[in-house]
Amino acid sequence: MLTADSPTTAHRWPTGSHFDVIVIGSGIGGLVTATQLAAKGLRPLVLERYLIPGGSAGYFERDGYRFDVGASMIFGFGQQGTTNLLTRALAAVGQQIETIPDPVQVHYRLPNGLSVRVHRDYEQFLAELGDRFPHEREGIRRFYDTCWQVFNCLNSIELLSLEEPRYVARVFAQNPLACLGLARRLPANVGGLARRYLRDPELLHFIDMECYCWSVVPAAKTPLINAGMVFSDRHYGGVNYPQGGVGRIAEALATGLQEAGGHIQYQSRVTRIVTEAGRAIGVELATGERYTADRIVSNATRWDTFETLLDAPLPRREQRWQQAYTAAPSFLSVHLGVDAAVIPPDTDCHQILLDDWADLEAPNGTLFLSIPTLLDPSLAPPGCQILHTFTPSWMSDWQGRSPSDYAQHKRALAQQLIQRLERVFPGVLEAIDHCSIGTPRTHRRFLGRMDGTYGPMPHHQLRGLLNMPFNRTAIPGLYCVGDSTFPGQGLNAVAFSGFACAHRVAADLTRS
Ligand SMILES: Cc1cc2nc3c(=O)[nH]c(=O)nc-3n(C[C@H](O)[C@H](O)[C@H](O)COP(=O)(O)OP(=O)(O)OC[C@H]3O[C@@H](n4cnc5c(N)ncnc54)[C@H](O)[C@@H]3O)c2cc1C
Repeated sequence: MLTADSPTTAHRWPTGSHFDVIVIGSGIGGLVTATQLAAKGLRPLVLERYLIPGGSAGYFERDGYRFDVGASMIFGFGQQGTTNLLTRALAAVGQQIETIPDPVQVHYRLPNGLSVRVHRDYEQFLAELGDRFPHEREGIRRFYDTCWQVFNCLNSIELLSLEEPRYVARVFAQNPLACLGLARRLPANVGGLARRYLRDPELLHFIDMECYCWSVVPAAKTPLINAGMVFSDRHYGGVNYPQGGVGRIAEALATGLQEAGGHIQYQSRVTRIVTEAGRAIGVELATGERYTADRIVSNATRWDTFETLLDAPLPRREQRWQQAYTAAPSFLSVHLGVDAAVIPPDTDCHQILLDDWADLEAPNGTLFLSIPTLLDPSLAPPGCQILHTFTPSWMSDWQGRSPSDYAQHKRALAQQLIQRLERVFPGVLEAIDHCSIGTPRTHRRFLGRMDGTYGPMPHHQLRGLLNMPFNRTAIPGLYCVGDSTFPGQGLNAVAFSGFACAHRVAADLTRS
């Protein structure tokens, strides 16, 4: 999957080496934790099983194309406020990335010809949605304005560890109104707010899609705090694509980490978290090395951390979490390189296609499409564009198949996705220059995520974000970071988790 310029390092730490903190995994959550710790003067070691950093925010190169593995609609690169966490994480270790502003966050192509573009400009977006639902104009504004209230609270406080009492007390003293505003909304979901202001069933379906496309659940199960971030930051800091591809973010963080005195070691799959008297004290690698640290942070999912890396029985706190959250499906991903002539010049970079509202959450129902070369043509050979399309897919659909059956099933489903693209871009089928297909098995293999899952999703309707755990775990000395910790999936969200985790770990180390 990778290329000759992979930053694998010849240097490996000798077995028995000791570090302040070991971080298992170099996803954005793990890297932000490690860079924040290094910036605080600590000596972290990141262990990454793969050849390059980034995890779901990584990349691969084929036939002259540089494809993003997953994420490509990037929040957190704004220049002001406190919610621009990617900008801030990079700056903390002396790094900066050129970004390209995306004028439209997403172009929805929904059932019954409902076509809506979420413009970077808030008023332009409200006007376009209001034109489609003129009888709901006032309700639409009140709904999205309420999301802005949540965002303004978040954007006025320093975002660190909510499980560190001295920080919480300080932030409350500095900005009591913002804190109370957030506390009030912590248990709320988007569905309740939408039904308070909106009536039209099609518009409520639209709000479901607005949530589903990043939370993978409809509005009734999507926390209002997360929606406040997404629905407002797209008009505030905006959606910005990193020049050179999404993989640049992790590469720059890894560079900054090393310049700040931290370390990263690739091809280092952790097979076991070592405990002593119930406390996490080190890790063992598949290659046999054993390292120790004062604190261990896992950027693997909670399922992988507690069910495969630890020998101990599942702690009661994790049992409760698993009752509240289940693993979301993975994706069937098709990465295409196509002749640029089939993509009209006014095409939007991110699009979402759905034919029938009943299929919103179904496999092969919602189709996500990114064309990052519209923003950064350097990702493809001259005269070509990248189309990255993906749709939910469960591991169960791919298990127990013979190699030939697996290959045939992969091709058949990919063909269905491309047929749907053909309706938007006539001629695309004939214009394909390169095609790579990834299944849940691919996601599991290359990202090390149980069943290739996108992350946790509520089993049933929960009270907003109240059940989402912070970074400390039931195992002393062990912390989790990334999308199965507060506040959930998305690059800016896991960056938040990384800031919080580093803050919590540093505070604990200072006290011990
Ligand atoms: C198809 C797709 C599209 C997406 N689109 C977007 C988008 O447009 N915008 C957005 O913001 N988000 C998007 N996301 C979500 C976002 O990419 C993730 O929420 C985020 O990147 C997760 O980061 P993380 O740090 O939690 O973990 P991961 O990215 O999963 O990284 C974990 C790292 O840990 C390593 N690891 C795991 N186990 C071990 C082990 N035992 N030993 C050593 N290393 C290990 C893995 O190799 C990996 O590098 C998308 C995700 C997918 C899959």
